[in-house]
Amino acid sequence: MKKIELSDRQIENASELLKKHKTYSSFSQNKSDAYAFTKIIGVKICPYCNINYISTIISGKKKILRPDIDHYFCKSKHPRFQLCLYNLIPSCLTCNERLKGNADFMKVPHAHPYFHDFDSLMHFCVELRQSNDYLDEKNLEISFSPYKNESKSLQNRANNNIETFKLKERYQVHADQVIDLFKKAKFYWKAKKTEISRLLYGNSMELSNWSYSAIERILFLEKDCDINQVSFGKLKKDIINRYCLKK
Ligand SMILES: [Zn+2]
Repeated sequence: MKKIELSDRQIENASELLKKHKTYSSFSQNKSDAYAFTKIIGVKICPYCNINYISTIISGKKKILRPDIDHYFCKSKHPRFQLCLYNLIPSCLTCNERLKGNADFMKVPHAHPYFHDFDSLMHFCVELRQSNDYLDEKNLEISFSPYKNESKSLQNRANNNIETFKLKERYQVHADQVIDLFKKAKFYWKAKKTEISRLLYGNSMELSNWSYSAIERILFLEKDCDINQVSFGKLKKDIINRYCLKK
């Protein structure tokens, strides 16, 4: 969801591996190279959904687990890109196989994990369905809203990701994550801030701006998290920053 930045060394090493093969099937059947590739790219959470972990696990000589490798431009329709580095996106099984399948991203442009920053195009938001009860899972509707100053064509790309990867529906079943943050904000922020402040700074400490931000970091660890390293990182960061912080 956050644009993946590859270093020169990552690009060089990954390209070396790809160059050894003439077809994608030869590359993917060569376990050493395919595992080395996903290890080099080093993405830990699926860049399309930010939900599923996609670690590469190698133990000694054993290759235990690696992410799927999605072809952004699917290899059945665009075989010339089958071994292009920037066409190969480590991703989760759900996004790659179950939901994307053979969808043609050449015809319907989507946000590309190496070139577009979904995180700065869309933010999560929450609407209440019937009552004002924001601690009732059934009453919460999780959706996305565009950041206003971004271009329409980029926003369309991001919207296509939301549709193809069924992001609204998949996040809706995890509404409990949002409720946990709301509960923290409701019960802890008010009741515990003085207590935490005393623990940190002693009895007479007045809450300064500095101590407020320290407490925020304790209560809401994901506020400034690297979302590509944390499952549900974007959801948590957006919800915390929009709804949970009070001065
Ligand atoms: Zn995914």
